[in-house]
Amino acid sequence: MTVERSNHSTGFIAKEMPPRVILTSMDWEADGKQHGYLSVPYSSDDSAWGAVRVPITLIRNGEGPCVLFTGGNHGDEYEGPIALRKLATALEADDFRGSAIIIPALNPPAVQAGTRVSPIDGVNMNRSFPGKRTGSVTKMICHYVSTRLLPEADAVVDIHSGGKTLTFTPFAAMHYLEDPDQFEQTKAMMHAFAAPISLVIEELDTEGMFDGVVEDTGKPFIFTELGGGGTVTPQTVAIAERGIINVLRHFGIYHGEPMDFEKEEVPPTRMMATPDGKSYTISDETGLFEMVVNLGDSVEEGQLLGRIHSIEKTEIPPSLYFAHRSGELIGRHYPGLARPGDCLAVIAIDDE
Ligand SMILES: [Zn+2]
Repeated sequence: MTVERSNHSTGFIAKEMPPRVILTSMDWEADGKQHGYLSVPYSSDDSAWGAVRVPITLIRNGEGPCVLFTGGNHGDEYEGPIALRKLATALEADDFRGSAIIIPALNPPAVQAGTRVSPIDGVNMNRSFPGKRTGSVTKMICHYVSTRLLPEADAVVDIHSGGKTLTFTPFAAMHYLEDPDQFEQTKAMMHAFAAPISLVIEELDTEGMFDGVVEDTGKPFIFTELGGGGTVTPQTVAIAERGIINVLRHFGIYHGEPMDFEKEEVPPTRMMATPDGKSYTISDETGLFEMVVNLGDSVEEGQLLGRIHSIEKTEIPPSLYFAHRSGELIGRHYPGLARPGDCLAVIAIDDE
């Protein structure tokens, strides 16, 4: 039986000292299961010499591949934090060969507030990579992940969902990559995750994302969008749990008995793509948003997707929003109100 220990109960003993700004109680070389945290200096009105703590679990059993799993990059997306939190407790190092670094809440102030961006510095973590050593709290976490944790990992899974303002048919995703070997390795990991949809995605806005920092190292990186609306369902949490275990098995890291959710029959993942900007329909108006198609519906190019109704003037007809390509609706704006610039609809096409 390998050891399991918690750094929380023993008080903070820094294993890494300055020049790092973020200190940690973790011993990265130790076998067994460790629950600890990163300590991010945050001097505030509430705590002059205080810190934000980022909980972290390392499960390690000897040499072997290492996968970094992150959730709570955005604070209103819950499948990642819940699934990783459960598995950090359930998984045992004896069933491992290699290691997993598990961070259920990468941006704790945002997760605690249930907000996409951190309330203490107003920073969107996934637009702030590679971060800044002496930046705000969110940027310091990004910097530590980029410079200290990423070199430890052979692959990264960053678990997102739609949050309060989007909702998706659950998918795992990767970007178009120039290196064919990296593309194939990443695709194999995405396939292994086995979400209902595996998506090769061209995104609207990629500057400062965790994705690019990992991709630039040549390592496989996938992310997910597993649901949304600021909550979870039994199905979306199960997809996250199964996906994490599937990836660990894919790399030969986890050898435990099948978990209950692994025994359930699931349909094979469906390969899809959003190859360009025609997959997105964007709002130009403020008003009441009426979607007229459902997630999972097949749509034709030019088909009506939704209407935005003026709140102020009854004589104005609604603005109409159409599909720019044929395909399937996999994502939509979730709130009943829309504003200019909101992404209203995401349409994917079958790939392969
Ligand atoms: Zn997100």
